[in-house]
Amino acid sequence: MSVSSLCSPVVAGLQPYVPGEQPRIPGLVKLNTNENPYPPSPRALAAIAQAAQQGLQLYPDPQSLALRETIAARHGLDVGQVFVGNGSDEVLAHAFFAFFQHAGAPLLMPDITYSFYRVYCGLWGIAAELQPLDAGLGIDVDQLAARSAQGACAGVVLANPNAPTGIGLPLARIEQLLQACPQRVVLVDEAYVDFGGESAVGLVARYPNLLVVHTLSKSRSLAGLRVGVAFGQRPLIDALERVKDSFNSYPLDRLAQAGARAAYEDEAYFEQTCRAVAQSREGLLLALEDLGFVVLPSQANFLFVRHPDHDAATLAAQLRERAVLVRHFARPERIAQYLRISVGTPAQCDALVQALRALV
Ligand SMILES: *Cc1c(COP(=O)(O)O)cnc(C)c1O
Repeated sequence: MSVSSLCSPVVAGLQPYVPGEQPRIPGLVKLNTNENPYPPSPRALAAIAQAAQQGLQLYPDPQSLALRETIAARHGLDVGQVFVGNGSDEVLAHAFFAFFQHAGAPLLMPDITYSFYRVYCGLWGIAAELQPLDAGLGIDVDQLAARSAQGACAGVVLANPNAPTGIGLPLARIEQLLQACPQRVVLVDEAYVDFGGESAVGLVARYPNLLVVHTLSKSRSLAGLRVGVAFGQRPLIDALERVKDSFNSYPLDRLAQAGARAAYEDEAYFEQTCRAVAQSREGLLLALEDLGFVVLPSQANFLFVRHPDHDAATLAAQLRERAVLVRHFARPERIAQYLRISVGTPAQCDALVQALRALV
């Protein structure tokens, strides 16, 4: 795409993230962007409605203090160890700016992971050094730890469970990385952890170099509200606050602060919907294996699958004709024969399996 000469020269060099499509097709079975198939907690919706009735003419709390207190209490942390932003994508952007710009040293990350990490590297001029996944498409922690222990790196970023594979790492592996790289930040993006992964939030007290990032978009059904969270020791959170207040003092509006807080207060609903998604995932896994798919072990709300006899891009296009949307990544080459399928309601999973039965 050509960029106008009116723009700053840097704009032409950006390589923006391409989000999954959000088409408006009636009756669409939408399994392409890992949203939660269940609506948000009714208490969150009520809190948003109430917040809309009162005070929108006033700025929101720039520090989101009540929300941060609620989140901190849930995790047994101090409010000063919790940062919130406008979606975890914004939290990640601030974190990359705050922690990973070290005089040209490269940021280490798996070669196949959340593709926004490389976009932020491009935005902030950080070099990315990619460590290949192992033969089973798991993160090769021994390699990452060995490389980070050599020094001359800006830090480490990974998603756990990883995206788009869904494969999770045990906590001992995260600790191995934290110990190998004590002089730099290790950022663990736990966007999917609530569906069955092991969270590193409990390690925050022991590791000054750990930053854990969460989102309300997946396990709390609030992708439309845009709230993300970071957990870390105070110096890291203070740094994020400095960056945030150099960019936008009010990233979370009144509706988002109220709705997010109520979502955290409705623990029962959260646990019930996470359990339902995890159960559907296991059922869908068996149904796909029955159809001949190879399915990677997933601790997330999606499955990463391939069929030995069918081209992935073709299958995705054929599903689309049947009003079922899944995600296909043409690149990197190594995953081009996989489809990433978000776990839907039991009815949505059935619709997917029915459509596939006609195709494979
Ligand atoms: C969905 C996702 C995010 C972004 O979450 P938002 O809070 O909606 O910005 C971040 N990291 C990973 C790995 C994700 O899958």
